Amino acid sequence: MHTLMIDDQEKLYMAADILRAGGLVAVPTETVYGLCANALDEHAVSNIYKAKGRPSDNPLIIHIADLEMLQPLVAHIPDSASLLMEHFWPGPLTLIFESTSLVPLSVRGGLSTVAIRFPSHPTMQDLIRMTGLPLAAPSANTSGKPSPTNAKRVFEDLNGKIDAIVDGGLSTVGVESTIVDLTSGTPTILRPGGITQDMLLEVLDTIIMDPALLSVDATTKPKAPGMKYTHYAPNAEVMIYKGDDEKVVEAINAALLQDKAHNIYSGVLCDDETKSLFHSDFIISLGSRHTPCEIAMHLFEALRTFDDLKVQKVYALSFSTEGVGSAIMNRLEKSAGHHIIYV
Ligand code: AMP
Ligand code: MG
Repeated sequence: MHTLMIDDQEKLYMAADILRAGGLVAVPTETVYGLCANALDEHAVSNIYKAKGRPSDNPLIIHIADLEMLQPLVAHIPDSASLLMEHFWPGPLTLIFESTSLVPLSVRGGLSTVAIRFPSHPTMQDLIRMTGLPLAAPSANTSGKPSPTNAKRVFEDLNGKIDAIVDGGLSTVGVESTIVDLTSGTPTILRPGGITQDMLLEVLDTIIMDPALLSVDATTKPKAPGMKYTHYAPNAEVMIYKGDDEKVVEAINAALLQDKAHNIYSGVLCDDETKSLFHSDFIISLGSRHTPCEIAMHLFEALRTFDDLKVQKVYALSFSTEGVGSAIMNRLEKSAGHHIIYV
């Protein structure tokens, strides 16, 4: 299959035509690039799973660009959902609803519920409106790899496997949407993202984190099926160091020295405040620790850059879990397979 690159917004109608005909198109959103198909077309949806190599029990998020598109997809809209929609849509927030039978079971991974988001990115909104279709869209990467925040990374993973890629520059949030479940009692965050728990608490009286997100032993089953899979992993082995700055720097430098002696290429993932303190040829700073949004925006691209550089081991700082930091550390800990070293 030849993958068409669409880098001119004037040609967005070509992407709409492909989607209406049952094809697959990667599209920029504010979180990461998404791989879109008509959510109501089982065959198109099955091709998303194939192109990504995604397990079939990992459901997809459906994207809409108009509140009227929601009604036919969901059985019931709780008051809490209306409040969240009013405050955070369009934006990087996904809500879980009881589904209607209109939504194919394959989109929902066999569940009775469905995940819906109204993205804020103008290209994604335009495309949904042009097709008039709800679009199922997981991240546009090979399953298990770091999500793509630009068109080049989508091309690397999916060239020849999908019909087209719309190049719309960088995704500025950089981590996937926050997922909130409103179907089972207390509103619950199933995946931390760009909309933080504190922001949600300004609108709802209570909202808790899925206990599986907080468990250190990884034995509690997460309620978002996708959260149980290895994810965001570069080819390099990632290790996270937690402790005082000074001790972390010392421990990482000691590990770098050892690696050098064994001819192992190793790199450091850090922030602007510490980047001058490490002895390595492969140091990537994600930005200042005082601007966590910048750190979130650069995380996945940095993990992929280490692969470009053929780095075998990555020593990462532990970033603050304040605000969007909980999403940053959720992704980083998964990319490290929860390999954390306390110093
Ligand atoms: P991605 O689109 O690649 O960001 O992945 C979508 C995420 O949404 C995965 O972690 C899924 O498990 C989660 N998800 C989608 N639908 C549901 C649902 N009905 N209930 C719980 N989690 C869901
Ligand atoms: Mg994904």
